[in-house]
Amino acid sequence: MITLKTRKELLAMREAGRISAQALQAAGKHIRPGMTTKELDRILYEFIRSKGATPSFLGYGGFPGTACISINNEVIHGIPGSRRLREGDIVSVDVGALYNGFHGDNAYTFAVGKISPEAQKLLDVTRESLYRGIAAAQSGARLGDIGYAVQSYVEQNGFAVVRKYVGHGVGRDMHESPEVPNFGKAGRGVRLTPGMVIAIEPMINAKGADVRVLGDKWTVVTSSGSLSAHFENTIAITERGPVILTDPGEGEEPTQTPILYDRERVRG
Ligand code: MG
Repeated sequence: MITLKTRKELLAMREAGRISAQALQAAGKHIRPGMTTKELDRILYEFIRSKGATPSFLGYGGFPGTACISINNEVIHGIPGSRRLREGDIVSVDVGALYNGFHGDNAYTFAVGKISPEAQKLLDVTRESLYRGIAAAQSGARLGDIGYAVQSYVEQNGFAVVRKYVGHGVGRDMHESPEVPNFGKAGRGVRLTPGMVIAIEPMINAKGADVRVLGDKWTVVTSSGSLSAHFENTIAITERGPVILTDPGEGEEPTQTPILYDRERVRG
Protein backbone atom coordinates (compact mmCIF):
# COMPACT_ATOMS: atom_id res chain seq x y z
CA MET A 1 0.00 0.00 0.00
CA ILE A 2 1.26 3.47 -0.87
CA THR A 3 0.92 5.92 2.01
CA LEU A 4 0.08 9.48 0.96
CA LYS A 5 1.47 12.16 3.25
CA THR A 6 -0.42 15.20 4.44
CA ARG A 7 1.02 18.67 4.04
CA LYS A 8 1.96 18.64 7.73
CA GLU A 9 3.72 15.31 7.32
CA LEU A 10 5.59 16.61 4.29
CA LEU A 11 6.87 19.52 6.35
CA ALA A 12 8.11 17.05 8.99
CA MET A 13 9.74 14.99 6.24
CA ARG A 14 11.43 18.12 4.93
CA GLU A 15 13.20 18.38 8.30
CA ALA A 16 14.36 14.75 8.19
CA GLY A 17 15.43 15.29 4.59
CA ARG A 18 17.35 18.44 5.41
CA ILE A 19 19.34 16.69 8.15
CA SER A 20 20.08 13.76 5.82
CA ALA A 21 21.29 16.13 3.12
CA GLN A 22 23.38 18.22 5.50
CA ALA A 23 24.99 14.99 6.74
CA LEU A 24 26.04 14.17 3.18
CA GLN A 25 27.35 17.69 2.79
CA ALA A 26 29.41 17.27 5.98
CA ALA A 27 30.82 14.02 4.58
CA GLY A 28 31.76 15.78 1.34
CA LYS A 29 33.67 18.47 3.24
CA HIS A 30 35.76 15.88 5.09
CA ILE A 31 36.55 13.41 2.32
CA ARG A 32 40.28 13.26 1.58
CA PRO A 33 42.84 10.66 0.56
CA GLY A 34 44.14 8.65 3.53
CA MET A 35 41.03 8.68 5.69
CA THR A 36 39.30 5.41 6.51
CA THR A 37 35.66 4.78 5.69
CA LYS A 38 35.10 4.21 9.41
CA GLU A 39 36.34 7.75 10.13
CA LEU A 40 33.94 9.09 7.52
CA ASP A 41 31.12 7.06 9.05
CA ARG A 42 31.90 8.51 12.48
CA ILE A 43 31.58 12.06 11.14
CA LEU A 44 28.14 11.18 9.77
CA TYR A 45 27.08 9.58 13.04
CA GLU A 46 28.16 12.59 15.11
CA PHE A 47 26.50 15.01 12.70
CA ILE A 48 23.14 13.24 12.71
CA ARG A 49 23.16 12.86 16.50
CA SER A 50 24.08 16.54 16.91
CA LYS A 51 20.82 17.42 15.11
CA GLY A 52 18.77 15.31 17.52
CA ALA A 53 18.12 12.72 14.82
CA THR A 54 18.86 8.99 14.59
CA PRO A 55 20.85 7.33 11.79
CA SER A 56 18.27 5.39 9.76
CA PHE A 57 20.64 2.68 8.55
CA LEU A 58 22.44 1.85 11.80
CA GLY A 59 21.19 -1.56 12.91
CA TYR A 60 18.80 -1.83 9.94
CA GLY A 61 18.78 -5.54 9.08
CA GLY A 62 21.88 -5.70 11.28
CA PHE A 63 23.85 -3.13 9.24
CA PRO A 64 26.78 -1.99 11.43
CA GLY A 65 27.35 1.53 10.08
CA THR A 66 25.64 4.93 9.97
CA ALA A 67 26.19 5.11 6.20
CA CYS A 68 26.76 2.69 3.37
CA ILE A 69 30.15 3.65 1.96
CA SER A 70 31.04 2.03 -1.37
CA ILE A 71 34.30 2.58 -3.25
CA ASN A 72 34.96 2.30 -7.01
CA ASN A 73 33.53 -1.05 -8.21
CA GLU A 74 31.33 -1.27 -5.10
CA VAL A 75 27.78 -0.29 -6.03
CA ILE A 76 25.94 -0.01 -2.71
CA HIS A 77 25.85 -1.32 0.88
CA GLY A 78 29.59 -1.04 1.55
CA ILE A 79 30.38 -1.47 5.26
CA PRO A 80 32.48 1.30 6.85
CA GLY A 81 35.80 -0.07 8.06
CA SER A 82 39.59 0.25 7.99
CA ARG A 83 39.94 0.70 4.22
CA ARG A 84 41.55 4.02 3.35
CA LEU A 85 40.35 6.32 0.58
CA ARG A 86 42.97 6.88 -2.09
CA GLU A 87 43.54 9.70 -4.55
CA GLY A 88 41.52 8.94 -7.68
CA ASP A 89 38.86 6.82 -5.95
CA ILE A 90 35.17 7.52 -6.24
CA VAL A 91 33.21 6.93 -3.06
CA SER A 92 29.45 6.56 -2.79
CA VAL A 93 27.94 7.62 0.53
CA ASP A 94 24.33 6.62 1.20
CA VAL A 95 22.87 7.95 4.45
CA GLY A 96 19.51 8.57 6.08
CA ALA A 97 18.20 10.23 9.22
CA LEU A 98 15.10 9.57 11.29
CA TYR A 99 13.62 12.76 12.77
CA ASN A 100 10.19 13.40 14.26
CA GLY A 101 9.09 9.96 13.15
CA PHE A 102 10.08 10.28 9.48
CA HIS A 103 13.07 9.21 7.43
CA GLY A 104 15.16 11.03 4.87
CA ASP A 105 17.32 9.03 2.48
CA ASN A 106 19.99 10.30 0.08
CA ALA A 107 23.24 9.35 -1.60
CA TYR A 108 26.06 11.04 -3.45
CA THR A 109 29.20 9.77 -5.15
CA PHE A 110 32.20 11.93 -4.30
CA ALA A 111 35.54 12.23 -6.03
CA VAL A 112 38.58 11.59 -3.82
CA GLY A 113 41.13 14.13 -4.98
CA LYS A 114 41.70 14.14 -8.72
CA ILE A 115 39.83 11.44 -10.66
CA SER A 116 40.04 10.20 -14.25
CA PRO A 117 37.90 11.79 -16.99
CA GLU A 118 36.07 8.44 -17.34
CA ALA A 119 35.18 8.42 -13.66
CA GLN A 120 34.09 12.06 -13.84
CA LYS A 121 31.80 11.28 -16.77
CA LEU A 122 30.20 8.43 -14.81
CA LEU A 123 29.53 10.78 -11.89
CA ASP A 124 28.14 13.51 -14.15
CA VAL A 125 25.87 11.16 -16.09
CA THR A 126 24.57 9.39 -12.98
CA ARG A 127 23.84 12.67 -11.22
CA GLU A 128 22.12 14.13 -14.26
CA SER A 129 20.06 10.92 -14.65
CA LEU A 130 18.77 11.40 -11.11
CA TYR A 131 17.62 14.93 -11.93
CA ARG A 132 15.99 13.74 -15.14
CA GLY A 133 14.15 11.13 -13.09
CA ILE A 134 13.06 13.81 -10.64
CA ALA A 135 11.89 16.10 -13.45
CA ALA A 136 9.71 13.22 -14.74
CA ALA A 137 8.07 12.77 -11.34
CA GLN A 138 5.13 15.05 -12.07
CA SER A 139 1.69 14.63 -10.56
CA GLY A 140 -0.38 12.58 -13.02
CA ALA A 141 2.66 10.94 -14.64
CA ARG A 142 3.46 7.25 -14.14
CA LEU A 143 6.19 5.48 -12.23
CA GLY A 144 7.53 4.16 -15.54
CA ASP A 145 8.14 7.71 -16.71
CA ILE A 146 10.79 8.09 -14.01
CA GLY A 147 12.58 4.86 -14.90
CA TYR A 148 12.40 5.67 -18.57
CA ALA A 149 13.92 9.12 -18.05
CA VAL A 150 16.82 7.67 -16.06
CA GLN A 151 17.47 4.65 -18.28
CA SER A 152 17.29 6.40 -21.62
CA TYR A 153 19.76 9.10 -20.57
CA VAL A 154 22.18 6.60 -19.00
CA GLU A 155 22.15 4.26 -21.99
CA GLN A 156 22.59 7.14 -24.46
CA ASN A 157 25.82 7.79 -22.62
CA GLY A 158 27.00 4.19 -22.86
CA PHE A 159 26.52 3.21 -19.22
CA ALA A 160 24.33 0.52 -17.62
CA VAL A 161 21.46 0.75 -15.11
CA VAL A 162 21.58 -1.76 -12.23
CA ARG A 163 18.32 -3.74 -12.30
CA LYS A 164 18.62 -5.77 -9.13
CA TYR A 165 18.20 -2.82 -6.75
CA VAL A 166 15.66 -0.01 -7.03
CA GLY A 167 14.37 3.11 -5.30
CA HIS A 168 11.41 3.05 -2.94
CA GLY A 169 8.72 4.93 -1.06
CA VAL A 170 9.88 6.75 2.09
CA GLY A 171 7.96 7.80 5.21
CA ARG A 172 7.63 6.46 8.72
CA ASP A 173 9.45 3.44 7.32
CA MET A 174 12.65 3.85 5.37
CA HIS A 175 11.47 1.44 2.69
CA GLU A 176 7.80 1.77 1.75
CA SER A 177 5.79 1.03 -1.37
CA PRO A 178 6.14 1.52 -4.24
CA GLU A 179 9.39 0.20 -5.67
CA VAL A 180 10.92 2.83 -7.96
CA PRO A 181 12.98 1.18 -10.72
CA ASN A 182 15.62 3.15 -12.57
CA PHE A 183 14.45 1.56 -15.82
CA GLY A 184 11.08 1.13 -17.45
CA LYS A 185 8.58 2.14 -20.04
CA ALA A 186 7.07 5.61 -20.27
CA GLY A 187 3.37 5.72 -19.47
CA ARG A 188 3.39 2.47 -17.49
CA GLY A 189 2.96 1.71 -13.82
CA VAL A 190 1.43 3.42 -10.81
CA ARG A 191 0.10 6.94 -11.32
CA LEU A 192 2.05 9.57 -9.35
CA THR A 193 -0.21 11.37 -6.90
CA PRO A 194 0.35 14.42 -4.68
CA GLY A 195 1.47 13.27 -1.22
CA MET A 196 3.57 10.37 -2.51
CA VAL A 197 7.15 10.44 -1.24
CA ILE A 198 9.76 8.38 -3.05
CA ALA A 199 13.51 7.94 -3.12
CA ILE A 200 14.85 7.96 -6.67
CA GLU A 201 18.33 6.42 -6.66
CA PRO A 202 20.02 5.46 -9.92
CA MET A 203 22.87 2.97 -9.43
CA ILE A 204 24.86 3.15 -12.64
CA ASN A 205 27.72 0.90 -13.77
CA ALA A 206 30.32 1.97 -16.27
CA LYS A 207 30.10 -1.51 -17.85
CA GLY A 208 27.31 -4.10 -17.61
CA ALA A 209 24.25 -4.07 -15.35
CA ASP A 210 25.15 -7.25 -13.46
CA VAL A 211 26.11 -7.14 -9.81
CA ARG A 212 26.96 -9.62 -7.07
CA VAL A 213 27.12 -9.59 -3.27
CA LEU A 214 30.47 -10.12 -1.53
CA GLY A 215 31.12 -12.67 1.23
CA ASP A 216 30.39 -10.03 3.90
CA LYS A 217 26.73 -10.47 2.82
CA TRP A 218 26.34 -6.70 2.32
CA THR A 219 28.69 -5.15 -0.20
CA VAL A 220 27.28 -5.18 -3.74
CA VAL A 221 29.92 -4.96 -6.50
CA THR A 222 29.80 -4.80 -10.28
CA SER A 223 30.26 -8.23 -11.89
CA SER A 224 32.54 -6.72 -14.53
CA GLY A 225 34.76 -4.96 -11.98
CA SER A 226 33.90 -1.59 -13.56
CA LEU A 227 33.25 1.59 -11.59
CA SER A 228 29.75 2.32 -10.27
CA ALA A 229 28.05 5.51 -9.08
CA HIS A 230 24.96 6.18 -6.97
CA PHE A 231 22.99 9.40 -6.48
CA GLU A 232 19.74 9.62 -4.54
CA ASN A 233 17.19 12.14 -3.35
CA THR A 234 13.97 11.75 -1.42
CA ILE A 235 11.27 13.72 -3.21
CA ALA A 236 7.60 14.56 -2.72
CA ILE A 237 5.07 14.55 -5.56
CA THR A 238 3.05 17.77 -5.35
CA GLU A 239 0.48 19.57 -7.51
CA ARG A 240 3.18 22.06 -8.40
CA GLY A 241 5.78 19.45 -9.33
CA PRO A 242 8.39 17.34 -7.56
CA VAL A 243 10.00 18.82 -4.45
CA ILE A 244 13.35 17.57 -3.20
CA LEU A 245 13.05 16.88 0.53
CA THR A 246 16.73 15.95 0.92
CA ASP A 247 17.85 19.48 0.15
CA PRO A 248 20.45 20.83 2.62
CA GLY A 249 19.05 24.37 2.32
CA GLU A 250 18.40 27.01 -0.29
CA GLY A 251 21.15 27.32 -2.85
CA GLU A 252 23.14 24.42 -1.49
CA GLU A 253 23.97 20.91 -2.55
CA PRO A 254 26.27 18.33 -0.95
CA THR A 255 28.46 18.80 -3.92
CA GLN A 256 31.98 19.26 -5.14
CA THR A 257 30.92 20.14 -8.66
CA PRO A 258 28.72 22.84 -10.20
CA ILE A 259 24.97 22.35 -10.16
CA LEU A 260 23.94 20.68 -13.39
CA TYR A 261 20.23 21.16 -13.17
CA ASP A 262 17.79 24.01 -13.08
CA ARG A 263 16.37 24.11 -9.57
CA GLU A 264 13.24 25.91 -10.75
CA ARG A 265 12.61 23.30 -13.41
CA VAL A 266 12.94 20.55 -10.84
CA ARG A 267 10.61 22.32 -8.44
CA GLY A 268 8.02 22.65 -11.20
MG1 MG B 1 17.27 4.56 -0.64
